[in-house]
Amino acid sequence: MPSLPLRAEDEPEVRAALREADAPVLLMVLVQLTGETRWLDEFAEAVRPGAAPDAAAIARLHDLLVNVLRLPAAKPRALTPAMFNRMMTVCVGQEVPPEYVPMIMEDLGFEVAPSLAVVEHLAERLGDFRILIIGVGAAGLCAAMQLSKAGIPFDVVEKNPDVGGTWFENRYPGAGVDAPNHLYSFSFEQNHSWTRFFVRQPELLAYFRDCARRYGLYERIEFNTEVVSASYAPADAMWTVWTRGKDGQLRERRVNAVISAVGQLNRPAIPAIPGLDQFQGTAVHTATWHDGVEVEGKRVAMIGTGASGMQVAPTIAPQVARLTIFQRSPNWIRMRPRYHEQVSAGKQWVLSTLPFYATWYRFQLFWANSDALHHALQKEPGWTDTRTISPANAVLREQWEVHMRESAGDDAELLAKTMPDYPPFGKRPLLDNNWFDMLRRPNVALVTDGVERIEGDAVVTRSGERHPADVIVFATGFQASRMLYPMEIRGRHGRTLRDLWGDENPRAHLGITVPGFPNFFLLYGPNTNLGHGGSVIFHLEIQVRYVLGCLELLASSGSRAMECREDVYDAYNERVDAAHNAMVWTHAGVNNWYKNRVGRVTTNSPWRIVDYWTMARAPQEGDFLFDKRPVAALPD
Ligand code: NAP
Repeated sequence: MPSLPLRAEDEPEVRAALREADAPVLLMVLVQLTGETRWLDEFAEAVRPGAAPDAAAIARLHDLLVNVLRLPAAKPRALTPAMFNRMMTVCVGQEVPPEYVPMIMEDLGFEVAPSLAVVEHLAERLGDFRILIIGVGAAGLCAAMQLSKAGIPFDVVEKNPDVGGTWFENRYPGAGVDAPNHLYSFSFEQNHSWTRFFVRQPELLAYFRDCARRYGLYERIEFNTEVVSASYAPADAMWTVWTRGKDGQLRERRVNAVISAVGQLNRPAIPAIPGLDQFQGTAVHTATWHDGVEVEGKRVAMIGTGASGMQVAPTIAPQVARLTIFQRSPNWIRMRPRYHEQVSAGKQWVLSTLPFYATWYRFQLFWANSDALHHALQKEPGWTDTRTISPANAVLREQWEVHMRESAGDDAELLAKTMPDYPPFGKRPLLDNNWFDMLRRPNVALVTDGVERIEGDAVVTRSGERHPADVIVFATGFQASRMLYPMEIRGRHGRTLRDLWGDENPRAHLGITVPGFPNFFLLYGPNTNLGHGGSVIFHLEIQVRYVLGCLELLASSGSRAMECREDVYDAYNERVDAAHNAMVWTHAGVNNWYKNRVGRVTTNSPWRIVDYWTMARAPQEGDFLFDKRPVAALPD
């Protein structure tokens, strides 16, 4: 593909690529390359997202760009926050409040986050401070990459034989993302050659492997090694961590700080259905799918219809003799533009070669996928319709119902089975992976009568109907609330995290720190999952920067250890719980994996992304207790 500056002979190819590109994003490119905001006045209306495109104006925009691209690259003019805000607004065709400007400027690389700005000198000030990262999925990778950029020593242990975490483990047929990858990727390691807008698991895993390779992480990670326990000794402010390697041997390590990056979705949940142990066929959970699982020509029973079920069932349906899907509760199923689309060569060219295109395209995705809908997840006091929670939520219901009705066609029974009676976003909405087409196949049945027991060769429902099966696929999700299970993490007073949290009631300040557990940091910890939109990777980057900020506080205060104050932790969690009480996830009659058995939301953040970003932008010194005593003076 052509490079820049543009040569005359490449012009037709470049013009073809521009025609495939998004016009508002091209306008941002023109403004950035010329430093002239007058183009916003001229083209804002013509390229407004959602409006009918003005072909003549867009052709002129292309001409202007082609002229600029012929010239050697000029040094781009610095953007003031006001200019940037205006560009954001034109780029998405909606007023973007100024509160988003600093966050987006950092994510897009126009500004450096405060905690990243100071890391250059951090390594030397921390001395031989040693950090252990547990797990190297997206969270652990993010931490390892940022620490290695800062030159801070660390070790990593990972229970799997490779990086990727949940994206290494979940290799069921059809596994893939449902957040667009140009957003669901590290801001500081963007990939311009995604082959699809929503890639499949192998391509995402390849991206994570590539990141690990580029940072030399393969040499530093101890694979096939699981943390069994960790305990903190106040005497020397050190963590002793016991790991079990591939040979089954326990090994002791001593480190100053631990970053748990095990996340929420790594322990599969398999329901205790009577008779499961008597089943004579193959039973597999989506998260433990392996090459030995054969479904071709088999009678397959799939229990569970969440995000994993939505992907696996339509993928295997054409290969199996019979697919019986057991649905406990229906899901909101939505259409998503580009969900099945490949990224064209022209689009890949503008992303990889046109300066600032990928940057502004990422912002467009961020805006379309994040806080804009947050208000529709909040309960309106006094609202009486139980199938919605507010006027905005009712509008969403109306829109989403259209797709469900159109998809079910004139099959009233199918519509009755699949239409949720709870509000939009009560549980995670699913992207339509040809679900209804699949349900209409002659070899597929949707069973909504509850599963009662399993026999040697069948799944039996409450009505007594037997559904013969050679393979049972458990698409039944994860033990998300049992965070850090089964590790035993023992803090300063000898109490474990499980003593503090109970079996499944985790809490942390900003989802990251816990009182009594000095220098212990959680990534994708309690109340940090995003239920309204956005990218978990974006959220992880915030958390990793916060941890770097904590290391900076340790260094600047000359402390060996820091821990969150109990009152700060309590106050934060009270605010989290109060905010959740006003969110759709706690609406009566809604069940989802965000809540624990007693109905407390443990996994999700109740905040808008910009609110969490603001709260976690930098750790506040006053939120922590510091251990400044010299080691020798400490009592035993
Ligand atoms: P999930 O969304 O929790 O779905 C589990 C399914 O199993 C639900 O349909 C649930 O029914 C059903 N179920 C659970 N226990 C059952 C029982 N005892 N009897 C009958 N049915 C039972 O799990 P998941 O599909 O693995 O997804 C979990 C999360 O992983 C997602 O929300 C998402 O965050 C992530 N994920 C993402 C992607 C992606 O990006 N494409 C793909 C897969 C997973 P109820 O609804 O009635 O509880």
